Amino acid sequence: MKTALCWFKNDLRIDDNPALVAAARADRLLCVYVVDARHDDRSSYGPPRLGPHRRGFLSQALTDLRQRLTAIGGQLCVIAGQPDQVLPLLAANTNADTIHTTAEFAPEERADVTSVANALHSTALHTHEGGGLYEQSALPFELADLPRVFTVFRKAVEADAVIGAPVDAPSQLPPSPALGNEPDALPDIIQWPDTPTLFTGGETPGLARLNHYVWSSQAVAHYKQTRNQLLGTDFSSKFSPWLARGCLSPRRIMADIARFEQAVTANESTYWLGFELQWREFFRWVLSLHGARLFQLGGLLKRDDRPADRDPERIEAWQEGRTGMPFIDANMRELAATGYMSNRGRQNAASFLARDLGQDWRVGAAWFETQLVDYDVASNWGNWANIAGVGTDKRDRGFNILAQAQRHDPDAAYISEWLPELAAIPANQRQAPFFMNAGQRADIDYPALIIDTPAHWPR
Ligand SMILES: Cc1cc2nc3c(=O)[nH]c(=O)nc-3n(C[C@H](O)[C@H](O)[C@H](O)COP(=O)(O)OP(=O)(O)OC[C@H]3O[C@@H](n4cnc5c(N)ncnc54)[C@H](O)[C@@H]3O)c2cc1C
Repeated sequence: MKTALCWFKNDLRIDDNPALVAAARADRLLCVYVVDARHDDRSSYGPPRLGPHRRGFLSQALTDLRQRLTAIGGQLCVIAGQPDQVLPLLAANTNADTIHTTAEFAPEERADVTSVANALHSTALHTHEGGGLYEQSALPFELADLPRVFTVFRKAVEADAVIGAPVDAPSQLPPSPALGNEPDALPDIIQWPDTPTLFTGGETPGLARLNHYVWSSQAVAHYKQTRNQLLGTDFSSKFSPWLARGCLSPRRIMADIARFEQAVTANESTYWLGFELQWREFFRWVLSLHGARLFQLGGLLKRDDRPADRDPERIEAWQEGRTGMPFIDANMRELAATGYMSNRGRQNAASFLARDLGQDWRVGAAWFETQLVDYDVASNWGNWANIAGVGTDKRDRGFNILAQAQRHDPDAAYISEWLPELAAIPANQRQAPFFMNAGQRADIDYPALIIDTPAHWPR
């Protein structure tokens, strides 16, 4: 009689979950998620890592996972604590022979898995690759030879690597083992306030979003034309929150796109969604290879000329959306209100902090980590490092924020949405109120620009 635990982390789904499939081969199975109390601590950059949007989404995702596991005969324990304390206790309580879990690629998450393995006595820990498009053995190069440049990576995998087929969810799970001694030491207790979220956490809403974006609205067929927009629900896939928590598998998304291409249409847009998922994939391998270097000020390029300033006034103005640059402030207010920001917004907000405001880029990355409902360690820190000029992209260029606003929000509708105090003035002034004279500005309750107007901003 073999007993297994399945330790869920950022893989909160039953579909395409190799760790769950392996664990389901045991005679007894208990699923567990550990709510790591350390994520409530303030980080060295300031706020706690798990902000309200992420917490709300996680809480919903766990509720959904529990329902989906129960429907196939499983049981999920959600326990607060530290993994290397909770899992050995649970393993001992249930006499577990094995713990199955998804392999990690980020340094802290890897260290957590190692410390659980070290804390176990007679229980084996098995890790399973999952959550990406490729297994490491499918890459057409050794990880140590990972191309530095995204385009080289993409062309290599498109030519020579096969995206694995998603594995179906088990139809039935084995019964749960009885909890032995001290069941009270393993309270199943997470009672979080029910924070309203823009996206509902969980595999069920994630699969519904996939179905909506690909099949019912067929918005995927226009993705390339709309993906840089700022307002609305379908200009981009919005798969990221579910991908980040593992409620959706990228291999399932690719399988659905392939079926759509067969059944409906294959065009530049259907290709481009996969192209963007390759960016996600790239950053996963970058982090896997380079580890902690990605989090250093000089980054992968070991540059020693990046600003290390952490001016509280500038940083708070940026975080709160009151820098006096409307395109940035609108994006930062959207982030604070919803936990989401478009890719175009993220690029500009990051560039503004790291370059125009001259601040330590890692403070911005950490703020995004707290706020983003789709926070993903590899994509967030990898993109930030690139924009700060210390990542995989050797080009050291910032964004011209005003030109970007004029291009991507030409009628300033996005600015009006998030900065209603500017809605009544003409669109060109809404994008650049700092060019208005003092008399014109007098009636507007909106801050002055906190830096000198950059010379390259077009009047
Ligand atoms: C400074 C900065 C920080 C970012 N932080 C995150 C993060 O924490 N989590 C995250 O998932 N994405 C992050 N991104 C990437 C990108 O902005 C989001 O993935 C995208 O906006 C999510 O919306 P969507 O799902 O509608 O994307 P779509 O445009 O529909 O793209 C589909 C999927 O492709 C992937 N993708 C798209 N663009 C990128 C990219 N540039 N890098 C990596 N993957 C990409 C995502 O998984 C996304 O869900 C960041 C980008 C920047 C510039």
